[in-house]
Amino acid sequence: MSDIPTIKFNDGHTIPQLGLGVWKTPADETEKVVSTAFELGYRHIDTAAIYGNEEGVGRAIAASGIARDQLFITTKLWNEDQGYDSTLKAFELSLKKLGLDYVNLYLIHWPQPQADRYLDTWKAFQHLKEQGAIRSIGVSNFREEDLDNLIAKSGETPVANQIEVHPLLQQDALRAYNKKHDIVTEAWSPLAQGGELLKNEVLQKIAQKHGKSAAQVVLRWHIELGNVIFPKSVTPNRIKENADIFDFSLDSDDLKAIAGLNENKRLGPDPSTFSSL
Ligand code: NAD
Repeated sequence: MSDIPTIKFNDGHTIPQLGLGVWKTPADETEKVVSTAFELGYRHIDTAAIYGNEEGVGRAIAASGIARDQLFITTKLWNEDQGYDSTLKAFELSLKKLGLDYVNLYLIHWPQPQADRYLDTWKAFQHLKEQGAIRSIGVSNFREEDLDNLIAKSGETPVANQIEVHPLLQQDALRAYNKKHDIVTEAWSPLAQGGELLKNEVLQKIAQKHGKSAAQVVLRWHIELGNVIFPKSVTPNRIKENADIFDFSLDSDDLKAIAGLNENKRLGPDPSTFSSL
């Protein structure tokens, strides 16, 4: 699967455009699932402290025999750990659980604007980057106003903003903002969590036309928009299917039809209000 494209961050590092997400992957299955993904050619894993499975990811990395510089590992700082000292502590624990001496990308999981702690958190991220323990620093679920504030006050633009994006929530405005500021959009729940969307008639028709599944059409749509994606699955056949999207492309009619599916419908929490503080 050497055909997975990479995208360049504003700090010069690169990220594989496709990876595996492990939210809700049970801790005791994670090592097996991640090992399967590695065997199928995946090299990018998206986890988070709150997923409770960093240790499983770490075990799969250790068992893989793959050179560290061939892997791209992302984890995220959970809401309750925001703040300078608490970030340093939480990061150390994540690194230990992963069994690594650096992560490729560390993200502030949610902005929690009302808690007003993401600037101190970001300072700790900058410190850890200077120490070499994090290659690239980014954010997740940040709105335009959060990004404006973070960039103005810290002088450092995040490399990526990981936000909910799928055909039912296309986020044209925030994606355009990210692009304008040279921030890579990472699309979480790229398959809209695999629900009703994949039965949609428009997607089914496009899938038939290309001899692909509806899931593959949706993932291909993300790739063509320039999003980084990490669909989640614990099923080997689906993990394989989700990476088999680099031998076809969507035409302008397909793209127009998928654009028409937008309902501005969130499946996850609203970043304006979501907080655990
Ligand atoms: P997803 O859109 O990737 O959907 C996953 C579900 O889709 C699976 O559980 C399965 O039921 C189904 N599925 C997977 N492959 C399929 C296929 N080929 N055919 C049919 N059905 C298929 O949802 P997700 O797990 O919510 O999102 C992906 C990743 O994004 C997560 O694992 C996590 O890493 C990340 N994420 C981040 C945040 C955040 O706040 N930053 C929030 C949610 C998810």
